[in-house]
Amino acid sequence: MLRQRCGRCGSRVYFDNWACLACGARLALLPDLMHLAALEARDAGRWVDVRAPEGPAWRLCSNAVEHAVCNGILEEDQAGTLCRACRFTQQIPSLSVARHVEYWRRLEAAKRRLLFTLADLRLRPVPKSESPDGLEFAFGADIEPGHRFMTAHNGGTISINILEADDVERERIRTGMGEPYRSLLGHFRHESGHYYLDRLRASANAEIEWRIKDRFGDMDSDYDVSLAAYYAGQAAGRADPGQFISTYATAHPQEDWAETWAHYLLIRDTLQSASEAGVEPAAAGRPRTRRGRKDRSRFGVMIQRWLPLAELANELSRSLGTADAYPFVLTGVAAEKMELIDALVHEYRDRLPPVSGTRIAPSAASCTATESTVN
Ligand SMILES: [Zn+2]
Ligand SMILES: [Zn+2]
Ligand SMILES: [Zn+2]
Repeated sequence: MLRQRCGRCGSRVYFDNWACLACGARLALLPDLMHLAALEARDAGRWVDVRAPEGPAWRLCSNAVEHAVCNGILEEDQAGTLCRACRFTQQIPSLSVARHVEYWRRLEAAKRRLLFTLADLRLRPVPKSESPDGLEFAFGADIEPGHRFMTAHNGGTISINILEADDVERERIRTGMGEPYRSLLGHFRHESGHYYLDRLRASANAEIEWRIKDRFGDMDSDYDVSLAAYYAGQAAGRADPGQFISTYATAHPQEDWAETWAHYLLIRDTLQSASEAGVEPAAAGRPRTRRGRKDRSRFGVMIQRWLPLAELANELSRSLGTADAYPFVLTGVAAEKMELIDALVHEYRDRLPPVSGTRIAPSAASCTATESTVN
């Protein structure tokens, strides 16, 4: 996350802030989904950036005005009432249930953070309402007991069960499943991994296919059979924990990709936040990649920076009396899978093909999260 400063007084402000705590300026997320602007009210709902008072006028997003779930703005002459981030949301939970508004607020905040990361990686998704190959989000609740709203990705639609925004419920699921880590943002990252896997594979580029298969295995192997076996406790032949970033990654190569993708975004985001804050722990210990500590590649340097920071984060957690912030063991094999993701992102982000017409069957492109399943 980039370090943000108030455009009016220069104080430190944070990505989710709506107002500067020092000077009271209204803050808003610009349509680039990366930067906050300090605003000054003009008239009739018009606002200007205090740093560019002669520049364009803005309107607050209607989700900010009516529901306080968003800190975005849109150009005065733009059609509609929603900011760019909110235009990615295709379905919201029923607001007739009071607590759903708070869940929705948390979901939108996690979504904006994901959109920031994707923009920062120059992946630049567009809302599905603007392109059939775009991305959208559906936030829903269980319809009735035994009929779950699945957390999944399918053809550019990322569905998230709003219970994942309930801390008690999410923690109950996490402990019930013996997971060391489960977060709302993690779900968004994971599901976006499925979307970008589809986009990469939609090119039918033999080299991409070969590189993915070489690292992750056969993406087209039977998804339903694998998942059924995973939940039956028989992830046959794939259960060596040293090969995977998480237990769920053993379920199927597509889930391995999505888990590894999510981890790549986690590391990248956290490193950026630390770096922006001037925190850069000295490298300690050998990086656990095969190429050793002299690896000066982009990814090699990233891992060498990450390991001491992860150790510091855990030491800080223990001093604070909380659970480890980073409850993972990053093995060499898992790091090499991440290295492939890093390479593919940088090589193909400016020429990703459309996702429509993908040959991946809907059932194989989605993943599920019921009471007994993760995502
Ligand atoms: Zn300020
Ligand atoms: Zn908005
Ligand atoms: Zn998945």
